[in-house]
Amino acid sequence: MNTTADHLLDGLLTANFSYRSCRSRYEFAGYHKTSSHKPSPYLISKLRKQEALQKRCGPGTAAYNKALRRLDSGEGTDAADNECRYLVNIAFRGLGNRMLSVASAFLYAVLTERVLLVNWGKDDAASLFCEPFPGATWLLPRATWHSPLRNLDDYNEKSKESLGNMLQSGAIIDGNNNNNNVSWPSSPPGYVYLHLAGGYGYHDKLFYCGAHQRLLGEVTWLLMRTDSYLVPGLFLTEPFVGELDAMFPEKDAAFYHLGRYLFHPSNDVWRLVTGYYRSNLAAATRRVGVQIRVFHDKQPPQQVLDQLLSCVRNEKLLPETTTAAAAANDTSSSSSVAVLVTSLSSWYHERIQDKYGGGGVHVHQPSHEGRQRSGVTAHNMKALSEMYLLSTCDVLITSGFSTFGYVAQGLAGRRPWVMESASPFDEWKEGQVFAPEPPCRRAPSVEPCFHSPSYYDCAARKDVELDRVRPYIRRCVDWLGSSPPS
Ligand code: GDP
Repeated sequence: MNTTADHLLDGLLTANFSYRSCRSRYEFAGYHKTSSHKPSPYLISKLRKQEALQKRCGPGTAAYNKALRRLDSGEGTDAADNECRYLVNIAFRGLGNRMLSVASAFLYAVLTERVLLVNWGKDDAASLFCEPFPGATWLLPRATWHSPLRNLDDYNEKSKESLGNMLQSGAIIDGNNNNNNVSWPSSPPGYVYLHLAGGYGYHDKLFYCGAHQRLLGEVTWLLMRTDSYLVPGLFLTEPFVGELDAMFPEKDAAFYHLGRYLFHPSNDVWRLVTGYYRSNLAAATRRVGVQIRVFHDKQPPQQVLDQLLSCVRNEKLLPETTTAAAAANDTSSSSSVAVLVTSLSSWYHERIQDKYGGGGVHVHQPSHEGRQRSGVTAHNMKALSEMYLLSTCDVLITSGFSTFGYVAQGLAGRRPWVMESASPFDEWKEGQVFAPEPPCRRAPSVEPCFHSPSYYDCAARKDVELDRVRPYIRRCVDWLGSSPPS
């Protein structure tokens, strides 16, 4: 195959992979319209540098074996021999959450010059994704029984090795008791656990402070557990601001580039994507993606459907016809619309088909899995293929708070119409009516939302309105209680 700049996403990807080993790397561009978001030369140079680091220090190298031996033996970090440092990502929850977690960890690894190692948990990551780095693996090899890397799922907010707990237990010395003068008692430990999962506390959130970042820089191994998109938090962390400005002159296209760089569906998943696309979506002149994610089992589906139909009607996202017969007679430009519905249930697809199907409007749903079964490879392969199918659409309507939708919009580089979801954290009450007005809003950017930011301004030592600190930070439309995408 003759590779052009388009295939390599304007230099984002290297050509150092064979076409046959990972077709999606080279074919992704053909399924997505050329976009105005171009990766900056600085970002490209940082990615090439990271690839070299992954190769030089990653699993299988002498440097890796040495660092691992030291970690497993319980020794602290050797300051004189700390050239190869590691970030182990502990992703959890559904696939969307895990992809956002990995993308965030990757950017943190680039910023801090660490090798990224991904722990996908029970999942067979190799069935889902190709390796992103040439000549190196991004997957954390299986650990020996006595290694701190052995039971990664056991780390939580109570772990004594966490940044937050070390600050509270005195394992990190806070000189003036003001968070600005932190140090290790003697030499740095062999590893530190970073608990950055939703609901994390004040001390764990000090991760976003410059003084703590300098301290963490001295430690060979960092283990990071998160289910969220942390990138806006990194944009608020003082030592990273200059680098991030240079890497992402368009601040709201970070996941767009990171996601396209890191995630390449395996050949098996890509076959699902391209086969379905060719059979059902390719012929349409306009593709409308509808992602329905309901967080409450007890929420009446009719309420969700009504919200969707109001959104479509208000925003004129599909041609309104009273009957399928009328649509059949419609020879106008609306005559070739493909609607791609993704949902765990088939009920919405049937109702949308009843209302809009016929004539030139075709409604499709690739799967209806019934319930979330993360950890089952075949299930995850379908989920991943649907995120990519959604990303090929010209218009996106997504469910608020869903990371599944965030990945699709981010890969697409499309600002979706977001239907606010009933808060997953509040109990659904008998007889409750959830009918937000307006039923959907246009997302301000293509960036995923950061659900649990720290509002703490490390220099001012108090909580602040984040958009005042950095004017490009904005609140999410789908999660007003929380945070802003960059
Ligand atoms: P979130 O929970 O909406 O933030 O998204 P996640 O992707 O993290 O977790 C939801 C999981 O449920 C997905 O990864 C899938 O396993 C499953 N799921 C939810 N919606 C769909 C869908 O529309 N299609 C498929 N195939 N799976 C879905």
